[in-house]
Amino acid sequence: MTKQDIARVLREIAFFLRFNGDNPFKARAYERAASSLLLSTEELSCLVKGEGLMRLVDVGPGTASVIRDLATTGWSQLHRTVQGAYPSSLAELGEVPGLRFKQIRKLYERAGISTLAGLQEACRANRLLSVKGIGPKIQQRMMSALGEYQRGRGYRLLADVLEEAASLERALSAGRGVRSVTAAGGLRRKMEVIDEFVFVVECRQGDGIARVARQFNAVPYLTAVTASADRLTAHTVSGMPVQVVFPLPDHLGVRLLQSTGAQEHVDELLDRFAAVGLPSWRDVENRFSGAGEEELYRALDLPCIPPEVREGREDLDALKGRKTCSLVEAADLQGCFHFHTDYSDGEDTVDAMVAAARARGYRYVGISDHSRSAFYANGLKEPRIRRQWEEIEAVQGKHRDIHIFRGIEADILPDGSMDYADELLAEFDFVIASVHSRFNLPEADQTARICRALANPYVTMLGHPTGRLLLSRPGYRVDMGRIFAAAAAHRKIIEINGSRHRLDMDWRWGRAGKAQGVRFCINPDAHAIDEFRNVDYGVNVARKAGLLKADVVNTLPLAGLQGLLKDMRPSESSVQ
Ligand SMILES: [Zn+2]
Ligand SMILES: [Zn+2]
Repeated sequence: MTKQDIARVLREIAFFLRFNGDNPFKARAYERAASSLLLSTEELSCLVKGEGLMRLVDVGPGTASVIRDLATTGWSQLHRTVQGAYPSSLAELGEVPGLRFKQIRKLYERAGISTLAGLQEACRANRLLSVKGIGPKIQQRMMSALGEYQRGRGYRLLADVLEEAASLERALSAGRGVRSVTAAGGLRRKMEVIDEFVFVVECRQGDGIARVARQFNAVPYLTAVTASADRLTAHTVSGMPVQVVFPLPDHLGVRLLQSTGAQEHVDELLDRFAAVGLPSWRDVENRFSGAGEEELYRALDLPCIPPEVREGREDLDALKGRKTCSLVEAADLQGCFHFHTDYSDGEDTVDAMVAAARARGYRYVGISDHSRSAFYANGLKEPRIRRQWEEIEAVQGKHRDIHIFRGIEADILPDGSMDYADELLAEFDFVIASVHSRFNLPEADQTARICRALANPYVTMLGHPTGRLLLSRPGYRVDMGRIFAAAAAHRKIIEINGSRHRLDMDWRWGRAGKAQGVRFCINPDAHAIDEFRNVDYGVNVARKAGLLKADVVNTLPLAGLQGLLKDMRPSESSVQ
């Protein structure tokens, strides 16, 4: 068996463990072991000798023995046991987002469906309607989930490919004759989903490009390598297409621009070069031989544009003549809001979460567990809210250098009212209003629902404005223009939710929101201590949205933020 074969079996084990209702952590361990195996640079034969497998991160004694069995005998007792009498292809259905194990079981037992192709065919032929327990609504939902899944095939979440990209970058950097390696393409532009890795490798003068390129035929991360004069195409072991570009040293700047994209941005730059008498990139290379990106932009009277905002053609005029283009940075953030603790569906305690935020250097954090309508997430009823406040007070006593705001992520009910009374909402320092139900309302109703919530005097910000889940669930239909208008009118904040699956608000709305005078808050929506890193993904989105430090409220120092929250509340005298 190859590494890929073994990884597939490990994933099947994970699927069947979950399918059988076994411990989800155990299932996760097999998934992690599969990724770790694929990412390792060592030959399989070396790994299975002695304690080799234990050198891999995320491989423990249990997963190691399964890998060893598979590598040596092509067979695993555990795999057989958990799979039972089910066909292994059933694991394919586990990939369809939103399809629950109970439904997969019904599909198999009552309709004999055991593959993706079979499911698709049955949906198309309306055959699921005769299966007991699967009505037209569920069939409809399955069809749209399948559609999303297939549209998303080939794409993976940015956060999920970073580790693999970094490993590959390190392997390329270690090559003989390599001066530098830059991850270009969507990776460099911090796109929310990625379907290709592009690397630009700068070779040392005098080391023939062909010679440098040739050694990468044998990089263990890469398969199906084909090389041409100045580039190499391949796939990573996990199936991601890879392009490695080897420019001549004098053409590095131009090649970086071209390889970073996006195509529209590159086309716009060439149009501008054409206007000054350089109609092709070859002409630009000759005229600006040896120039870096910054110099090339300067030649067009533009500041060096950060890769995140090299998307469309628009806005270059606005930048013309400016010296710098300084977008918000992770280091600007003084704190964040929106995270969950073990009071609702988070994994960690109030104390652990606050300590993790403090370790990131934050001066303030806002706790926001789920509200009472979120029964699926153990949402808080009033007595537990009060208990949490007591706990927050105790934790605050322990951590004097970080201020804890007490908040809630309250559900917006279908009619736009909030699921707690105003009197209770008034007792929180801040309120995030979120839609967690009735995703399929018509656009006008969904928009009106959210706008009404934004008019509530105690709501501070709108959480994940469209509710999308990348590569699995489209957002609910809303008119973002009207939502921005309502947010601006009521001086409410729009969240940029940094959860790797959400990245919502979508960065493409940034300019429209800014133009309407909306302010934003970058939040992690963390459900565990290690998810504070979601803030960094949120910063990517804010930068892609073209936001500056002043557009993002959680760049304010503590006193400024306290003032802002106070100003947003109705004054004492206006409330009877
Ligand atoms: Zn939420
Ligand atoms: Zn949340």
